Amino acid sequence: MSPDGTTILFGLPGVRVRRVEHVASHPVVGHLRPGTPARLVHVVTTDPAAAFCLACGVVSSSVRQRRTTSPRDVPYGDQRLAVRWHKVQYACRERRCPRKAFTEQIPELPAGARLTGRLRRQVGAAVGDGQAVSVAGAGLMSWPISHAAFIVHAQELLAEPTAVTVLGIDETRRGRPRWTRCETTNTWMKLERFETNFVDLGGRQGLLGQASGRRKDNVIAWLDERGQDWKDQVQIVAMDPCATYRSAIRQALPNALIVADHFHLVALANKAVTEVRRRVTVDTTGRRGTAQDPIWAKRTRLLRAKERLSPRRSPECGTA
Ligand SMILES: [Zn+2]
Repeated sequence: MSPDGTTILFGLPGVRVRRVEHVASHPVVGHLRPGTPARLVHVVTTDPAAAFCLACGVVSSSVRQRRTTSPRDVPYGDQRLAVRWHKVQYACRERRCPRKAFTEQIPELPAGARLTGRLRRQVGAAVGDGQAVSVAGAGLMSWPISHAAFIVHAQELLAEPTAVTVLGIDETRRGRPRWTRCETTNTWMKLERFETNFVDLGGRQGLLGQASGRRKDNVIAWLDERGQDWKDQVQIVAMDPCATYRSAIRQALPNALIVADHFHLVALANKAVTEVRRRVTVDTTGRRGTAQDPIWAKRTRLLRAKERLSPRRSPECGTA
């Protein structure tokens, strides 16, 4: 039977629209505020695979009972659209099947789903396009469900990074410290603010991936996920002088050469120079440096790279 115009317009694969009614406020449409007018779309299953037993795969025509659910679907038009799915529960007549009954399910609405697949995909894609999670799912689903939809969307788009020869590892810290209450232990927990970034330093892939936190086991887990062949290709790992990362690389990539990146070495050297300058100032004057002391006023010159000093200011001239 070819689908009717309303079913084509509704466009949810696996169901046929039986009728559409206009309601001022329907008590069963849970996510609509009381008093909200809605169009109620009654659908029945047309997907023949929905009558296959979930356990043994044998088709059943033995109707046990009928049920109705109200899955949420994508918004369409100015007035809210609410779905009533009239489902059939079948009895499985296979003697050796452990399952006595099963309810229809379709790919867009698997067993237990309260949201259509197309609604999840739409919200996930909206977050991927840059909308805030709370905005994309507003009025349709909770923040955690919206976020989960985005993760599914992102995982389908993100390509597995190809092997690299020079790997960069560094950390990023996000925002202020935030706390959340653990539901199982009812204690406050600090939310993870650090991420470990893996970067292709020898090629053009840029950011390869991120691991939550900056712990050894998270770094090893991300590298192990790439597989042994991928790990064997890495020859050099550049990182800051961090014992945790070094220990993780020693274990996950034992043959790779670890190098400290230039920025961090210079930062450490500058820190040592500053400590010496402060100590010498206190030793010679008995107090901290002030704007009246030439050595304090010119303190940044000690930290400037040699190639960025004018000839007059270069230490080799002895005029500074
Ligand atoms: Zn069965």
